[in-house]
Amino acid sequence: MSDIAVVGGGVIGLAVARSCAAAGADVTVLDRAPISGASSVAAGMLAPVTELHYGERALLQLNLESAAMFGGWVGELERETGLRTGYRETDTIMVAADADENAALAEVWRFQSSLDLPVERLKGAEARSLEPALSPRVRGAVLVRGDHQVEPRLLADALLASCRLRGVSFIADHAASVESIAGRVSGVTLRSGGGIRASAVVIAAGYASADIGGLEPLLRVRAVKGQLLELASPDGSDLVQRNVRGHDVYLVPRVGGRLIVGATVEERSDKMVTAGAVFDLLRDAHELVPGIGEMTLVEARAGLRPGTPDNGPLLGATEIDGLVVATGHFRNGVLLAPVTAQSIAELLSSGRAPESIRPFSPLRFEKVEVEA
Ligand SMILES: Cc1cc2nc3c(=O)[nH]c(=O)nc-3n(C[C@H](O)[C@H](O)[C@H](O)COP(=O)(O)OP(=O)(O)OC[C@H]3O[C@@H](n4cnc5c(N)ncnc54)[C@H](O)[C@@H]3O)c2cc1C
Repeated sequence: MSDIAVVGGGVIGLAVARSCAAAGADVTVLDRAPISGASSVAAGMLAPVTELHYGERALLQLNLESAAMFGGWVGELERETGLRTGYRETDTIMVAADADENAALAEVWRFQSSLDLPVERLKGAEARSLEPALSPRVRGAVLVRGDHQVEPRLLADALLASCRLRGVSFIADHAASVESIAGRVSGVTLRSGGGIRASAVVIAAGYASADIGGLEPLLRVRAVKGQLLELASPDGSDLVQRNVRGHDVYLVPRVGGRLIVGATVEERSDKMVTAGAVFDLLRDAHELVPGIGEMTLVEARAGLRPGTPDNGPLLGATEIDGLVVATGHFRNGVLLAPVTAQSIAELLSSGRAPESIRPFSPLRFEKVEVEA
């Protein structure tokens, strides 16, 4: 019998499995195709401050906590596996392309400053002196010192390697349903038939978590499509040094002159790359950084974020003993991987949810009946 079955092998499931194995548990990850979900598409911005939205204070705290853990967490992962994760402390510059956007950015800056976040207001010329590739149209900017980046595919590969080193088992199959007896979880039934027994089950199947039998009424998670592009400079030089975030688009520089341009936010559940999205992303990015016109288009990809009604993740215990949820990370699943892993491992070993994840109980929405 497996102590803990983790359903889903994206960054969240793998990070949780790794932490539980480190705490001494016997862990099995179920996934027909690990690292095939949103984690293989994401831009990898670690952006607690630039992702801040009004009314999301609890989420800001969680995002900041995870951002503070990130450097140490990936450092250990890289040492342990010998693999790179592409973690870079690059800072972010938020830019306004016209007077209206500049007025809106001033509001955002006031809000960020009121929360004592590390932000600095810049004039257009000051922004261009930091990032000469910015368009002369840029009217103003906010420099955000704490927002960094990682390469999600590299991170996920390192997590997978670390899980293997720590003795985590993998089953290449999907979960069809979660089984319970008298209100206590007993295991997982597999899609190909058969099943595994487990004394605890962690649901980390991203947007598809609600498709698992018996969970649909409990898990308020849906697919939110995102498309992004990868460009490369012909000579391998960097066009920008920092993450650049405009009103409708962001640019994330990668080593070797690569540049991520993202991302659409669409209430759809297909993974098609559309001509319209590629056009919009390139047009909006070109307005901010005209030099992208000289770059090559390396890849266009689409993924499905796990969205929730209030944009916060679903983290914690359910009404079924031993059934724990770690999903719904929406736009911040890469950023939130360390704090999710630590918190869920602590919940499973101590039975108590750490303070920081309590606002994100999967039971916080209206009460619904759960099939047992
Ligand atoms: C375009 C785009 C840009 C993004 N940019 C960022 C960013 O810059 N920063 C950031 O922090 N986040 C970003 N995100 C969000 C981030 O990608 C997600 O929040 C995160 O990847 C969620 O990870 P996950 O492990 O929960 O889900 P996923 O990565 O989707 O993994 C879920 C896994 O579950 C498996 N699965 C599904 N059903 C089952 C089943 N029944 N049984 C077993 N396994 C199953 C799948 O095969 C998959 O491997 C972005 C997302 C997109 C789409």
